Amino acid sequence: MPVLVMKFGGTSVATLDRIRRAAKRVGREVANGYDVIVIVSAMSGKTNELVGWVNETSPLYDAREYDAVVSSGENVTAGLMALTLQEMDVPARSWQGWQVPLKTTSAHSQARIEEIPTDNIMQKFDEGMRVAVVAGFQGISPEGRITTLGRGGSDTTAVAFAAAFDAERCDIYTDVDGVYTTDPRITSKARKLDKIAFEEMLELASLGAKVLQTRSVELAMRYKVRLRVLSSFEDGGDNAGTLVCDEEDIVESNVVSGVAFSRDEAKMTLISVADRPGIAAAIFTPLAEAGVNVDMIIQNISDDGRTDMTFSCPVDQVVRAQQAMAGAKERGEINFHELDADTEVAKVSVVGIGMRSHAGVASQMFRALKDENINIKVITTSEIKISVLIERKYLELAVQALHDSFGLENAA
Ligand code: ASP
Ligand code: MG
Repeated sequence: MPVLVMKFGGTSVATLDRIRRAAKRVGREVANGYDVIVIVSAMSGKTNELVGWVNETSPLYDAREYDAVVSSGENVTAGLMALTLQEMDVPARSWQGWQVPLKTTSAHSQARIEEIPTDNIMQKFDEGMRVAVVAGFQGISPEGRITTLGRGGSDTTAVAFAAAFDAERCDIYTDVDGVYTTDPRITSKARKLDKIAFEEMLELASLGAKVLQTRSVELAMRYKVRLRVLSSFEDGGDNAGTLVCDEEDIVESNVVSGVAFSRDEAKMTLISVADRPGIAAAIFTPLAEAGVNVDMIIQNISDDGRTDMTFSCPVDQVVRAQQAMAGAKERGEINFHELDADTEVAKVSVVGIGMRSHAGVASQMFRALKDENINIKVITTSEIKISVLIERKYLELAVQALHDSFGLENAA
């Protein structure tokens, strides 16, 4: 029988009543002829509570025990979901990560999936079991300890199972009804997209609620797993939610599919650094070592062998960046006159695979911002994205203007 993976997030299993509602959806797919693998998160709020308990008990905790505690929320919902299905006369069994066994690296709290053998669960399907309920977010290390996959990791569990079992689709049930052209809290004109390409989804991952763990999208793209994001609270029929899929499955791709943004950015400029081979390495190595997530980088025109170097990073990493640069200067690795920090900036991006074959997207973006009198401080582009840094106070205005300019209220 064809296999379907259905993943239920924390809000979809927050109470026994909601577990029952989710189980009914599973029962319907079983009736449609699927063998179903259900991946569950912990009840909403549970993982946060467990993390809090670990921190309170041991601030410098042993990561192996962190995983032992924090993975437990999913064990509860997996067992409850299996029981609920059994009460509905659907043959179901629960599986913790180690029972599958879902094999991971030993990087506790951030483990990566290495292998999912399918024989155990397949044998049960052959024996008449219709639903395997698997605890998301957890696995087992080569040393035989429980591991977790990083916050939001149940999405990645779900996609990995869909790939391993060659599932027809991986449905991610959550509390939003899909992926939007932009955050609906910024403009009421934001529209739900019916389809979006993997690459666009990766770029838009920052939009609105954290719909999908980024790793899960990367994995889906690699194994071409058709992913559908949909609400567990609404019945949207066959066209419900947003399908995240290969771009070949999108007949008419949008030039721009969405407007993404990141509110809390900083623009840092090293003024007058020596323009010599190795200078970029000398600047960005200590920043990387200090854990600064550098995003945009611009080297300005040089004059008399000296140049200005601008980069952006999250605003809460400015102090770290300043310390790293001061340290490098003290050690004589770099030399600069000043480090200027502009902490009042935000990043706005337009994203779309159609950009590859369309000229004029950048100029249209810049004109839309000009018409609102918004000054652009930094510009970067990639194949399917154009990003600008602007003053943070104009962020909402910029998002609305770009959403209008690219006609996204008519997107689908
Ligand atoms: N329960 C875990 C978390 O809250 C994993 C997940 O829900 O995806 O991060
Ligand atoms: Mg999640």
